[in-house]
Amino acid sequence: MRCPSCSTDDTRVVDSRAAEDGASIRRRRACAACNQRFTTFERLEEVPLQVIKRSGEPVPFCRDKIVHGLSSASKGRPIEPEQFAELAADVEESARLEGSEVTSEWVGLAVLDRLRVLDHVAALRFASVYKGFSDVSDFEDELSLIKRASLVKRETPVPST
Ligand SMILES: [Zn+2]
Repeated sequence: MRCPSCSTDDTRVVDSRAAEDGASIRRRRACAACNQRFTTFERLEEVPLQVIKRSGEPVPFCRDKIVHGLSSASKGRPIEPEQFAELAADVEESARLEGSEVTSEWVGLAVLDRLRVLDHVAALRFASVYKGFSDVSDFEDELSLIKRASLVKRETPVPST
């Protein structure tokens, strides 16, 4: 947070307290350079996230739908239910960075990008449903993407959080 008096970025929080019945937080800040004190408010940004379907119809983003799609693609595969939930939460985080809406295609590809690294067989099944594979060359194309994703994984291991 920049100091309103001298514009330096070096400011620190000296006091925080809940305001508006806990709906926001009020922070007193002090500038390290000129010692100016000022107040900031932190408030929850409640922007609904919409998914635009192929038909153009907007529907609310739903993590459960992603988890459902993942679990049917992952039957019999060594993936824990928590990993589905983590993946869905991660996709939601990325989607919110994109803005207030994403396309259903964007969501499908975001899921697939992450699933490729997690489990090859599940990724192939998910892709065949999601992309609507019509012949064997579609499977071959997806397989090469999966192989590329696993190379990336080997070079830069994703930390498990
Ligand atoms: Zn200052």
